[in-house]
Amino acid sequence: MPNQVSTMISKSDFLLYCEAPRHLWAKKHECIDQQISDFVQHLIDDGNKVEGIAFEYLSTIFIPQHPGDQLLWQQTYSDGPYNARMDALVHKVRSDKYDLYEIKSSTGVDKDIVYDVTFQAVILGKHFSIDHFYVLHLNKVYIRSGELDLSSLFVAEDISEKVNATRSEVLHLREEALRVAQLVDSEEVEACLSPKDCPCPEICHPNLPEFSIYDIPYLSKPRKRELLGQGILEAKDIPLSFDLNDKQRLVAERARTNTEHVDKSSLGAELDRLQYPLWFLDYETCISALPMYDGYHPQQQIVFQYSLHRLDQPEGSLQHFSHIAVTTGDPSLSLYLIIAQAASKASYNLIFFL
Ligand code: SF4
Repeated sequence: MPNQVSTMISKSDFLLYCEAPRHLWAKKHECIDQQISDFVQHLIDDGNKVEGIAFEYLSTIFIPQHPGDQLLWQQTYSDGPYNARMDALVHKVRSDKYDLYEIKSSTGVDKDIVYDVTFQAVILGKHFSIDHFYVLHLNKVYIRSGELDLSSLFVAEDISEKVNATRSEVLHLREEALRVAQLVDSEEVEACLSPKDCPCPEICHPNLPEFSIYDIPYLSKPRKRELLGQGILEAKDIPLSFDLNDKQRLVAERARTNTEHVDKSSLGAELDRLQYPLWFLDYETCISALPMYDGYHPQQQIVFQYSLHRLDQPEGSLQHFSHIAVTTGDPSLSLYLIIAQAASKASYNLIFFL
């Protein structure tokens, strides 16, 4: 563990703090799992591609439409211990004001993006007079036809009002982030009570049992704290006297008695509604921020593999159909055709495994 902790809070540090304060502490103290899954790497690569295309759009289409304006690309600014690299700043020379364009590969703006832009806004306010804060995201109704049409691919959403409404909160949060980053002991930083895909489980839950109180459905934070206060971490140790609703009690009881619960009558009622032949469909998709083929919009799932079983009668034997597309073209076309042909041979019920 390093002796000296960096006192700078970057934009990604700040967002990590917003995700969970302990994650920022763990990053600054080099105790975080830095491994990147293939899927996350794919998202990063996709984001980089969108960034490249956005630069092309801003520099070759947007700026020429606004003569005299200047594009400042990926400049870094700081305000004391806080810094951020801004995606794109447009200097409106005539008014000597600036607009910020934050580039996102999403098709909309969520709360996290507002915090992200507000963190930058607070820093930028120390350097420039900013007119508007835009998120340049992908246009969800754009459908590709031929080459990417850059002027239709992006939407510049003005979130200035939201940014201004979030400023004071972000000012407070960034100070908290700085304080947390400099703490020596992780115990002083509150852990979340929803451990999931934990990047630093050895800090929060070094001995998390396989079935813990966090697996009890919809158990509120105060109730989790109550159990933790009693030294109870395993679901099986929740006392019978502890107030739980019916579903929670059912789960706790199964943990306590180490048994499974199968609601046979509900399952039976569902299965009785089905008519033969039954079809069982499983399929795989991939997703691309930029539409790869004609007819697709941004962030659309692309089906490339399916597995289909057919059962004609109870106790009958299963017939299996499957296909994986190996092509550089749109893989879903051949799949749709094969599934449609198979399914059109009979009236059917499809059961999807997602
Ligand atoms: S419990 Fe898991 S998800 Fe929550 S702060 Fe700790 S490591 Fe992060």
